[in-house]
Order: sequence, then structure tokens, then C-alpha cells
Amino acid sequence: MAPHLLAQNLEKCRKLDKRMSEEETRKRRLRRQSRDWKEYLLCCKKCSEEACTSFDIKRYNKSHHYVCLQSFCDEKIDIKPHHKPGQMDDLYKLGKIYCSSCAKDWGVLAKFHDLNIPVLKIDSFVVYELKPDGSRGNAKVVKKWINAPFTVEDVDVIEDELSYDVDFESWN
Ligand SMILES: [Zn+2]
Repeated sequence: MAPHLLAQNLEKCRKLDKRMSEEETRKRRLRRQSRDWKEYLLCCKKCSEEACTSFDIKRYNKSHHYVCLQSFCDEKIDIKPHHKPGQMDDLYKLGKIYCSSCAKDWGVLAKFHDLNIPVLKIDSFVVYELKPDGSRGNAKVVKKWINAPFTVEDVDVIEDELSYDVDFESWN
């Protein structure tokens, strides 16, 4: 092969190589993104009642996972005063939250300034991947939030105003 043709061929190969690796990188990134944005369903570990999905959860201060959904407060939980109220970082543990169907302990009701938020223990739930058709995929049980198969929106300030059918004043 004439030297100039060889050089042209090499150049072609090099470009093709680069395009292929770019394509691979793009595919990997898309796979990673779509994995992050898959929706997961949290169901009560004891009675299987559907609690909320990963899209209804936010993370405050890189550690506290709370549900920012009014229907969750209205229909899914019962609230009782905390047996040992007190500070939890800059949140105040005010109450306990329980599954409204079977009374399993789901976590705490925490106070942030004037707002009350339900903070979940992931250990109280079975996590299902939601398929595009809405059916449940494989079940996962995770002990700690760090091992959850999804990530949620991080917030530094809680702005979700949720209302509860509980007279907190009468607890004091
Ligand atoms: Zn339950």
C-alpha cells in the first residue's frame, strides 16, 4: 500500500476508534443516569402496604430522608408522641410514625422550625423497582439508606409544608 493511503487508513481507524469510545462513554453515562432516575416503590415490611415512591422522598442535610407528600401524611401514617423526644442534628424528634394499616414503626416525625416532616427508616420497608408499566420488579431489603438502590433530591432547607390531623399542642 502506498504510504499516503496507509496514513489515510490509519487516520480513519483512529477517528472510528474515538467515535466508538465516545459512544461507549455516552452509553455508560445514559445507563448511569437512567439507573439513578428509576422509580422505586417502598412497601411496609410487615403488611406490604404501599407507602410512597423514591420520587416522593428528599434528603435533608445529607442524612435525613423525609417524605414530602401530603397524601402520605393523610392516609399512610399514624402519629404518636415520641417516647424520648429530643434533638436529632438540627431537627427535633417530636413523634413516632407508624404504618396506618399494621402499626409497624416507620420512623419519626421531626420538627424543622415550624415544619413537621416524616423521616423514614429504610429498614422498615421492602423496596421494589417500578417497571415502566407500573408493575413491581425485584424486591430489595436494605438496612441502611446508604445501601438504597436509588438517590433522591438533596436539600439544605426544608420548605415542604405538610399538614397533620394531630393536635401537637395537647402533647405538652
Ligand atoms: Zn404495615
